[in-house]
Formats: sequence, structure tokens, C-alpha cells
Amino acid sequence: MPAVTADPLTLTRLPRLPEQETAWRPVTRVVTAERHLEGEGFAVRRPFPGIDLPLADPFLLLDHMGAVEYAPGEAKGTSWHPHRGFETVTYIIDGAFQHHDTTGGGGLITDGATQWMTAGSGLQHIEQPPPELVATGGLFHGVQLWVNLPREHKWAPPRYQDIKSRDVSLLSSDDGSSVVRVIAGELAGHKGPGATYTPITFLHATVAPGARLTLPWPHEFNAMVYALSGRGAAGPGARPVGEGQLAMFGAGDALSVTAADAQPLAARNGWEILVLGGLPIREPIARYGPFVMNTREEIIEAFEDFQSGRMGTIPAERVPHHSSADEQLS
Ligand code: MN
Repeated sequence: MPAVTADPLTLTRLPRLPEQETAWRPVTRVVTAERHLEGEGFAVRRPFPGIDLPLADPFLLLDHMGAVEYAPGEAKGTSWHPHRGFETVTYIIDGAFQHHDTTGGGGLITDGATQWMTAGSGLQHIEQPPPELVATGGLFHGVQLWVNLPREHKWAPPRYQDIKSRDVSLLSSDDGSSVVRVIAGELAGHKGPGATYTPITFLHATVAPGARLTLPWPHEFNAMVYALSGRGAAGPGARPVGEGQLAMFGAGDALSVTAADAQPLAARNGWEILVLGGLPIREPIARYGPFVMNTREEIIEAFEDFQSGRMGTIPAERVPHHSSADEQLS
């Protein structure tokens, strides 16, 4: 089952923006995601931090997992590892990911659900495909986004939001052709379920083949469009954006994208895009592996706290047989 959807004609429509009076944001660059191996060896496409991080602020990382058709025994996840100082947002479109953390949080993220984990002061967690998916194989497709926390919230207690697909706010484009899912933040006054420490908007849209989608966008937010599958064009200059590519937008008050008329089979319902933006935090970033703080001293402190067990201890029944402390930091 894919992400939540509905007949767009039944949904509340976004406002039609006046063509002449609107300050459409230009596309300043298009980057192609780099391929990386994560965790126990699952492939991700990573459009940033390959780009200059200040441009992505408050976002730290975007990992696109799949879409991949796993053979039996092939699906992989991560071993236990710590985080401190930011939030991880895991959105699963197809298949499932199972999560456990050292605060007792956890659950199955599946079919359009989102898990919003505030690592805050620190915890350890493990992210794995459920045993059924490993056994039978199958389609897996999702993303993980890292959202930075401002200095004043880096020590917030860990928090866990389990956002079901039915909680997502569904809207349609102004012409009623395309579906927009508001997962966090707000779009044209319509709020998504995710609660965030720093103002952001996080959307998943399915833009019907040949259709145009326009979105009012807060002037003070940055803006990015990432293509999960299919192809289209972004901005007034119609810059091509294909699967695995990210368009960065410049200043203005609204975004405009258009799906290509002809789409590959994987995007037969339309061009699948994530639209994200937020208010830049504009604080110094000290980053090492799973820790994102403001200073180098705080990173050293994070390592010490992790090594001395102050970021939680793995429940006895879940102690892995194969992973050393070093691997946990990979
Ligand atoms: Mn993690």
C-alpha cells in the first residue's frame, strides 16, 4: 500500500494564486542525490548535505530509501546507535520500518505513516525492516529527514510522535488534479499533524501528469523540492527535476512546479515530490556522525555521555549479538 491518497476532486482546494502579482520563487540550483550505504548496508540517495548546509538550514540531511523491491532475506536496517541535538523524521511510503529506542518508544512505521523522533538530550535507537518483510521481501520506499534543533531545545527530553497516515491533512491543487499531503507545518492555513520545535513545512505531493501545482510559501522559509519518482520542472524557468534530484528555490512568496506529460511506470499516478522548507536557525553547527551540536566541546561531551551510558542502555532482550560500540557510531 502506498502513501495515503484520495480523489483530489473530493478534497479542499488550495487557493489559486494570481499569476502576475505573485512573487514566484526562482530555482537557484538543481542537485542530483549521491548514493550511500547506510546502517547494515541499505542503499540511500542523499541530496544533502551535499549542498551547502546553510542553504538547507534548518534541515541537516535527507535520505531517500528505495524505492527498492527486496528479494527474500535482503531487507536491511541499522544496528543500535545514538543521537543527540536534532530530530529524525521517518516517512514510509511503501513497506515498513520497525523502530525501538532506549526511552521505550517504538512502533511500526508503514504505508504513509511518519515517525517524528526528537532525539534532544540523547537516546539510542534501532531501525529495522520487520521480520515479515525480511522473510518475504517486497517493495520498500521511504525517506528520513534530519531537522536541527536550536540551541535552546537541544537538551529537550526525547519525544516520539507516531503520525498515522489518516492524520495527514489532504488537500488538492487549485485545479483539483493533484494531491498534497501536509505532514508537518502549515500550507495555506491548513495544518499538518507533526509538531516541530522550529517552524517548518513538510509536504508530499502527487502532481498529476501534465499538471501544474502552485503553493503559497512563507517568505522567511527556505524551499526545496525533491523528486521521489517521475519527472517535472520547477520554477518560472521550468528547470527539469527528475527522480533523485533536488531543486533549491530562491526568495519569493510562492512555488510553482509542473509534472511532465509522460511519466515512467513508477510514477504512473503522477510526479511524486517532497516539498520542504523552514525558518533557518542560523547558529553554529558542530556535527559528528550521530550528534549535531553547536560547539566541538559539546560533541566531545556527547561521545563521553554515550560511552558512559548516559544516552540510555539497550534493553537486555534487545542486545544485539554482532554490533560493537564502534559499529554503533557508523
Ligand atoms: Mn538513527
